[in-house]
Amino acid sequence: MATVCYACGAPLVGDFKGQSDIYCKGCCDGRGQLKPRADIQRGIAQWFRSWQPNLDESTSLKRADLYMRAMPEWADKG
Ligand SMILES: [Zn+2]
Repeated sequence: MATVCYACGAPLVGDFKGQSDIYCKGCCDGRGQLKPRADIQRGIAQWFRSWQPNLDESTSLKRADLYMRAMPEWADKG
């Protein structure tokens, strides 16, 4: 049981809590299976742009990639 999502760092409470004990609702499907990395990266990039509307898509994707490297799920993978 984690307190934050292994894949994106979102707190595993309230609206973020899905079917998985280690991934938030945004990072897993209805059965608690982790979504593909590219899907999660796009989600994080979108989240960055929601509070930095001037950020362009490719920059936000690059930042999402860097951000994900600090997450336990992706740290040892690429
Ligand atoms: Zn997540």
